[in-house]
Amino acid sequence: MTVLPAPTTAGPLDDARTQLAAAVELLGIDEGQHRMLATPRRELTVSVPLRRDDGSVELFTGHRVQHNFSRGPAKGGLRFSAQVDIDEVRALAMWMTWKCALVDVPYGGAKGGIAIDPRVHSTAELERVTRRYTSEILPIIGPDQDIPAPDIGTSEQTMAWILDTYSVSVGHTVPAVVTGKPLSLGGSLGRASATSRGVVHIALAALAHRGIRVDGATAAVQGFGKVGRDAARFLAQAGLRVVAVSDVDGAVHAAAGLDVEELGRHVDRTGTVAGFPGAEPIDAAELLELKLDLLVPAAVEGVLNEANARRVQARIVVEGANGPTTTAADEILTARDVLVVPDILANSGGVVVSYFEWAQANQSYRWSEREVEGRLGDKMTAAWDAVLAFAGRCDVTLRLAATALAVDRVTEAHRLRGLYP
Ligand code: NAD
Repeated sequence: MTVLPAPTTAGPLDDARTQLAAAVELLGIDEGQHRMLATPRRELTVSVPLRRDDGSVELFTGHRVQHNFSRGPAKGGLRFSAQVDIDEVRALAMWMTWKCALVDVPYGGAKGGIAIDPRVHSTAELERVTRRYTSEILPIIGPDQDIPAPDIGTSEQTMAWILDTYSVSVGHTVPAVVTGKPLSLGGSLGRASATSRGVVHIALAALAHRGIRVDGATAAVQGFGKVGRDAARFLAQAGLRVVAVSDVDGAVHAAAGLDVEELGRHVDRTGTVAGFPGAEPIDAAELLELKLDLLVPAAVEGVLNEANARRVQARIVVEGANGPTTTAADEILTARDVLVVPDILANSGGVVVSYFEWAQANQSYRWSEREVEGRLGDKMTAAWDAVLAFAGRCDVTLRLAATALAVDRVTEAHRLRGLYP
């Protein structure tokens, strides 16, 4: 059934819609509902003029897409990357809806992005871009409407600027308008590493499920940013041998295992994993094809695709990134018995602790780190168990199980609320 015209080019939106269509078919959802689930409830595209440090003016395009509100306010990250386009933001917003429903936090899904390469701008320029974008999308964000958080190319500092711009505009401080903000502005203990903690929690569950001993199991992580860096660290702490890591500038390999803490210090000094002493450089694409127990793509979409999926030798792929596996690769990997743990389950730890942060802001009461991490672990385990049970019951992949579980919850909320008017 073709519900919507396909996006003009293959990409994340194509993948997201294909995943939705499979869940819709499994659940027997009708065409009208399918069309609603496939279409964002609200989209805003804005021009973001930036006065550069040299006085010239440059114009950027930003988007905020709110995919669904049936279960609560929209929630999702803000991305700064030259690759941002509306279809990517639509896909990411849809995945946020399923993720929030899957881990049962009371949100719909959203995503935002500006097509800008943050690496070529000064901090002052990034602050001006963030504040201008925030003021442009201000009418549709807020603690009860849509709550941004960091994603690729944005940080705690970006969230602080959004918080300030929003607060100045409404006349009082509103900590719950963003999550992933600095601790001193009401951020949550445990938020900065929550996505990575969740990824590793799920990776350990997947290893146990496949009967692979953790001690000495081999792993590689693509991306060494907010998700990949701590994921590599926690995997090493758990006893895995992290043999390769990459970022946008290069990849390094050490068969005996990388010293991830030392690698972190190298990245703090140089800005990249490339050139790390005690490891040999490898081709970034090669990392994805190493013989491994565990591969964690934690960078961008579409890196496991039709061109390389047949060469992937990992036994398990745990998606730290959103949308790293295309639909074609998914089919190839499944046929080759590679266990693919989908993004909406594997990287949901970030939004879980974002929810805790929002709850703390609404309560004006800070939870202890132990409390945050205990509750995060409980949520991740519950979601893993539910997905595994559903997959077993219906004999489907973990991705289809996770998507169907989530879509079913969103549809249930929609049915109970009814269609207005
Ligand atoms: P980030 O900007 O902090 O880090 C991105 C990393 O990926 C950097 O190390 C960058 O150099 C690297 N990278 C970019 N392109 C690459 C390529 N082609 N090959 C190898 N490395 C490449 O971003 P992040 O917050 O860590 O997000 C990474 C992924 O995780 C994204 O898909 C994001 O949507 C997803 N995610 C993030 C969070 C979060 O809490 N930050 C939560 C859930 C999902």
